[in-house]
Amino acid sequence: MKLSIPYISSPDYSDYLQTKLPFLESIYFSLGSGPVLDSRIRISSLDIQTLARELSPFSRTKKYCLLNTRFVRPGLYMDKGFLTQALDKIEILHETCGLDGIVFTDFYLLKGLDRTGHPIVPRLEALPGVNCMIDTSQKAFAFMEMIETTRFKLPGKIILDRSLNREPKKLASTVRDIKAARPHIKIELLANEGCIYQCPFKLGHDAQISLSNTGLVRETTYRLNQELGCHAYFHDHGHRFLKSPFIRPEDLPHYSDLADSVKLCGRTLGRRFLIRCIEAYIDRSFDGNLLDLMDAANFLSGFYHMDNKKLDPDFFKTLTSCTKDCKCCNLCTELFSGATVKNKPILQPYEDYR
Ligand code: SF4
Ligand code: SF4
Repeated sequence: MKLSIPYISSPDYSDYLQTKLPFLESIYFSLGSGPVLDSRIRISSLDIQTLARELSPFSRTKKYCLLNTRFVRPGLYMDKGFLTQALDKIEILHETCGLDGIVFTDFYLLKGLDRTGHPIVPRLEALPGVNCMIDTSQKAFAFMEMIETTRFKLPGKIILDRSLNREPKKLASTVRDIKAARPHIKIELLANEGCIYQCPFKLGHDAQISLSNTGLVRETTYRLNQELGCHAYFHDHGHRFLKSPFIRPEDLPHYSDLADSVKLCGRTLGRRFLIRCIEAYIDRSFDGNLLDLMDAANFLSGFYHMDNKKLDPDFFKTLTSCTKDCKCCNLCTELFSGATVKNKPILQPYEDYR
């Protein structure tokens, strides 16, 4: 299974990625400058010509630009000047380095982009982002039918919701039904997010990120999660991390008949984090703290060392065959205590956040 990975601007990271080209299905990245249209807080700014230059060594790898914010300010959906400006930049990336498409979450934004009449639109795939949470074939078809009402191309792949990682039967039937109807479409799974299973905070969290990115309010999402959200929850219930629908590198073979590629996330955590993840998922093995491979749950690595190898041999079977009704089940607590020790909190090197 090939990997879809974040591209972040860094000469070392770019050099490294060029040594891994045979393993890459695609790379994805934010627009780099102008209004934030992707689903994360912007950490660095890059003009479009520089971004295009940096992407040029990846001519044979599929490339997607992230326009996957949950929403933008209402007036912007009809603001032809604003939308055309974004599409002009995308056109530069398409012309200079063969950008294949955009990742989106907000259909209002997709429709608004289409309505500009911009000539780049029919040359771009509209790829529903993982936060569209496509967890049934019916939902996949509904998304594709709606994309067909625009001038965008249909996506070459569908990224399925992370919850299916822990439901092999539902995953298999979803993949079978999608491929029966659309044989050429590829299937991608998200491996290393590390969020709460079926996270009840998710829609609110996504919305709060988008609200901050409008510039109308201050960014407070990290603090909110520390005080009330997933950080507070995992601190109180560390063993529940095992219920999170991540895929361990060792477990990739269980998915290889179902999915064509695996997406890695964590673009805000820096190149050292990304390189560690890419190595582990290429090797299908990681001898270290599993929390060091996770994106949303990465903060826990300062508090716990979870010996990834000690989760074998029971982890996959246990977590993919249980009811997920944890009230009367101690299996995660037992697995957690067998593999995990508490750390003294340590500060990550500044380099990791660059
Ligand atoms: S980052 Fe935290 S709050 Fe947001 S979806 Fe993941 S687990 Fe939930
Ligand atoms: S039901 Fe048991 S094995 Fe499954 S997630 Fe809950 S505690 Fe873990």
